[in-house]
Amino acid sequence: MKGYVLQGKGEAAWQEVPVPEIGPYDALVRPTAVATCTTDVHAIATLAFPNALNKVIGHEAVGVVDTIGELVKDFKVGDRVVLPAILADWRNPRAQRGEAKHYQTNSPYMSPDPAVGGSFSELVKAVDADMVLAHIPDAVTDVQAVMVDDMVATGFTGVENMEILVGEVVVVLGIGPVGLMAVAAAALRGAGRIIAVGSRPKTVELARQYGTTTSVSSPSSSTESSTPRLSSPTSFTGGTASARAWT
Ligand SMILES: [Zn+2]
Repeated sequence: MKGYVLQGKGEAAWQEVPVPEIGPYDALVRPTAVATCTTDVHAIATLAFPNALNKVIGHEAVGVVDTIGELVKDFKVGDRVVLPAILADWRNPRAQRGEAKHYQTNSPYMSPDPAVGGSFSELVKAVDADMVLAHIPDAVTDVQAVMVDDMVATGFTGVENMEILVGEVVVVLGIGPVGLMAVAAAALRGAGRIIAVGSRPKTVELARQYGTTTSVSSPSSSTESSTPRLSSPTSFTGGTASARAWT
């Protein structure tokens, strides 16, 4: 099968790669939509993750179940599924206690196992399919669902970790896809004022639709923007001294 492989610093290309072997709890998923994360671009440009060298990269995908192990219960061949960006080893108690990020089974960037590849390939291995895959409702398209596995999950997790209370002031620094989802989640949690720091007119407008009450440009932005510039983090919060941060 074909996979998009990190071949060296600044070099990535489609090449022939082996079909992953699966165990009784695993599945192979055939991606129907993938998204490119800044992490993927960063990995190619800088070789920041040496473990990823000579592996298929990518970690945002939805697809159709192609093959299942004999002990998989909740999925069958042909099901439309989301492949989470982080396929954690949920049988590990520490993953269950909230450290899932550190017990990944599929990340080409984190795993030293040369057989662990990413989602930019014709078939992707889902380790422990019942634990990691999610069904996609018929009303949700593949292109909509592919935003769930990293952009929504990361933005929403940040807001949950902040434990935002009803009425609080929230500042979101950067309104790319993850920042936009942090805006949406902060609005859902009842934030009183949501300040988005970003400059691109399109994302400023999207942030407003998701719930920002104020938009400002970052001090270093070179982009022409009609939004006011941020002079200090507290300049838009009324000088509130106490703050919590999540990055
Ligand atoms: Zn990502």
